[in-house]
Amino acid sequence: MRKETYNLNIHDETKFLMKKYNVTANKSLGQNFLIDEEVILNTIKNANICKDDLVIEIGPGLGTLTNELVKNAGKVVCIELDKKMIKILQDRFLLFDNIEIINQDVLKVDLNELIDKYNMKSAKIVANLPYYITTPIIMKLLESRANFNSITVMVQKEVADRLCARTGTREAGAITYAVEYYSNAKKLFVVPNTSFIPSPNVESEVITLEVKKEKNKEIKDEGKLFKMIKYAFMQRRKTLINTLQNTEICKNKERIRQVLNKLNIDERIRGEALTLDDFIKIANLI
Ligand code: SAM
Repeated sequence: MRKETYNLNIHDETKFLMKKYNVTANKSLGQNFLIDEEVILNTIKNANICKDDLVIEIGPGLGTLTNELVKNAGKVVCIELDKKMIKILQDRFLLFDNIEIINQDVLKVDLNELIDKYNMKSAKIVANLPYYITTPIIMKLLESRANFNSITVMVQKEVADRLCARTGTREAGAITYAVEYYSNAKKLFVVPNTSFIPSPNVESEVITLEVKKEKNKEIKDEGKLFKMIKYAFMQRRKTLINTLQNTEICKNKERIRQVLNKLNIDERIRGEALTLDDFIKIANLI
């Protein structure tokens, strides 16, 4: 009897699994499968994974990255929405006792509960993210304040630029403020589109967000801060005063003007020119 082993290179292995299980990449689920061993090894190395770690992998797909994670981490929990992938993962990791495979939408998973359940020394998030929901996933992870140390993920290069931008610069968007508020972001390396099957139209980049464990002590009302940033970026070409007036933040234009004057900030400033610290100061005074 011919023995089926996975001693193939990653490209051939991916093709083999797709053929064996009769699956094609589902575009609407953002399925682009990694076929570049160097990218996988570099991601694991940069995520600093060891046997003390619980690793939560979002969107394991065929299990290419997972295959390295199970060798390096103490426990791996994979969250995958596509049922077809679940069957493949279950077969592929049948002999491993340090993996749990969850068939669910990551946006619906209670991360706090999951991390508490395993009670490991540290928890880390690692993923090649489905690009169509990168922002909601990153926001969910950050806002959950769940007890994990870092998020090491592959995202679209353009998104990496935005996530890792400095606030107060043109490259920043509303999400940049949340990233800076909750974490220290760092770009790791660029990944060409030839590293995937099928190959996406865009370049990718692996980034890491080291979570800030201490809550920001400067801000009085976090909710107000993020609402202000949201209004400022909904119409980023307008002045801050015009984007905030008649919102729940402030009904009165004059009040915003007074606050800006008190902080020595030009009244004509746009929200996009403000740093996170500026927004915090303004939110505390309004
Ligand atoms: N990790 C694999 C790799 O690197 O080859 C696959 C990465 S692929 C870019 C993204 C994966 O996320 C797919 O397997 C897709 O089915 C899964 N996915 C898409 N939406 C999801 C969701 N809401 N929750 C969990 N997984 C999701």
